[in-house]
Amino acid sequence: MQSIKANDYSIYFNHEAHEMLNSWIPKYNYSKLFILVDETTNEFCLPKLLPLLEVEIPIEIIEIEAGEEMKNISTCVEIWSILADLGADRKSALLNLGGGVITDLGGFVASTFKRGIDFINIPTTLLGMVDAAIGGKNGVDLGALKNQIGVINAPKLVLIDTDFLETLPQNHMKSGLAEMLKHGLIFDKTYWNQFKDLQDLNFDDLDQLIHRSVEIKNEIVCQDPTETGMRKALNFGHTLGHAIESHFLETPTPLLHGEAIAIGMVLESFISKEKNLISELEYIEIKSTLLAVFGKHIFTSNDIEAILNLLIHDKKNEYGMVQFALINSIGTCILNQNADNETIISAFKEYET
Ligand code: NAD
Repeated sequence: MQSIKANDYSIYFNHEAHEMLNSWIPKYNYSKLFILVDETTNEFCLPKLLPLLEVEIPIEIIEIEAGEEMKNISTCVEIWSILADLGADRKSALLNLGGGVITDLGGFVASTFKRGIDFINIPTTLLGMVDAAIGGKNGVDLGALKNQIGVINAPKLVLIDTDFLETLPQNHMKSGLAEMLKHGLIFDKTYWNQFKDLQDLNFDDLDQLIHRSVEIKNEIVCQDPTETGMRKALNFGHTLGHAIESHFLETPTPLLHGEAIAIGMVLESFISKEKNLISELEYIEIKSTLLAVFGKHIFTSNDIEAILNLLIHDKKNEYGMVQFALINSIGTCILNQNADNETIISAFKEYET
């Protein structure tokens, strides 16, 4: 598959990705290579990567526990300390092998260690491949508040090998699918149409679909790397989605990122409909497609109230107003939209019907 050029780096796929890694490391003369994994990617992904890695420099593995709960500043302190203890210097590189937690966290650790060392992302989840590993956003959560601390700093390379998906559980495949559906909704109606009847979707086409999603995300990010304009389109479904994800994060039933975003997309499509940006028919099409994959989540009125309170902390808020990126017919997006609490509550009510 054709590599994709981002502003400061490139994204390579499958066997070409491994070839690139093997030529990149000697070219940049790194002193040491650190590979950040979680316990699961250590078990399932590292054994696939290491035999393909043909480099002479010392390699150290840093393992953390798996899960969003690890995406915090304490884990960063732990990793910074391990790097220091293992003699990492400014010519060391960090290779992040894992899902969005590993690439977000590892990207932040690398961007701040000794004022910044190189890092390479090798995403191993579908969500990581089509979203988290690309675009240069890195960071950690602050308590239950998602991604409050971070930097925008590009990786040196992103290497996507879809073989890693062989061991990924089904719920995590769906979580990544949510972001792919979003790419269609905000940017490419033809791409959305490929997913509309998911029963007929041939997953042999997955590589091509992943490639198109990466192209869409990359095209948007390249035009607006620091999110002053068009990049905000990628936040469709995320204003409410992040608040929902944060709300359930510390409960016994946390939602996966993509699951929360899928709900956010239904709710924000409702808001788009209320603003006459999409038709009733388009709203029904979006809702039924998303519910067919993700099912329906039950929200109590206490949940909704807590979610509304969490919106106050959304990073996209400007001058105290909650900001939404909405869709303006399927395949295009409209930025900097507001919605009052009444409309948001109606969106939850309609979602439950
Ligand atoms: P994750 O990193 O927690 O991975 C999900 C689970 O799958 C983990 O338990 C992991 O160990 C396991 N896993 C990973 N690869 C596997 C494989 N190949 N086989 C079997 N198990 C595997 O979560 P995620 O869903 O990949 O990412 C979610 C995170 O990404 C969130 O923190 C979210 O905020 C972030 N994110 C960031 C961006 C960005 O632009 N930086 C965009 C979207 C999401």
